[in-house]
Amino acid sequence: EVTVGVLALQGDVREHLLALTSAGATARRVRRAEELEQVDGLVIPGGESTTISKLADEFGLLDPLRKRIGAGMPVYGSCAGMIMLATEVLDGRPDQQSFGGIEMTVRRNAFGRQVDSFEAPVEIAGVPGPSFSAVFIRAPWVERVGDGVEVLGRVTGGPAAGRIVAVRQGNAVATSFHPELTGDRRLHRWFVDLVRRSEDRSEDRSGA
Ligand code: GLN
Repeated sequence: EVTVGVLALQGDVREHLLALTSAGATARRVRRAEELEQVDGLVIPGGESTTISKLADEFGLLDPLRKRIGAGMPVYGSCAGMIMLATEVLDGRPDQQSFGGIEMTVRRNAFGRQVDSFEAPVEIAGVPGPSFSAVFIRAPWVERVGDGVEVLGRVTGGPAAGRIVAVRQGNAVATSFHPELTGDRRLHRWFVDLVRRSEDRSEDRSGA
């Protein structure tokens, strides 16, 4: 079985733990480098990216996270978690750090103050079934993606139509919205599957 961690510095950690468990994974909080070593994949929750950045630094997690993500550990970030996976952050605090993993520029709080929170249908490439009822809460959007980045989903209606809100680069996946806050477990199941497949591959390599 696969063990998926949830970075438990700040944010909606519990909701992701529950979603991962119902998606068939063993889910664990990750707050220290030793705990990071024990998981096969990691979720970075929604919350506040400036706080997650500050706490990751204080807990000595910046380097360990950058190394494991850089080495291809499957990782999924929602909302603030998407910001943490970006190589470039606009409208961030000057000292705000990210872990990298997806070559993209994201803009924090991009949808504007008038629409702090909203729900909109979003289709995710590769995840079958109806559109997600995507919940956006002071969400970022993606303004630029690098060559290796696959766009998985965009806003389809309203003033922000066409904006990129779901991306993937290799084993790193990010969404601007929060599937953990709805009963829809398709994205967590899809991610747990990605973790499982990448485990199988690493066992193949080690000849096990
Ligand atoms: N605005 C938050 C940030 O910049 C993200 C909000 C969220 O995760 N719901 O980190």
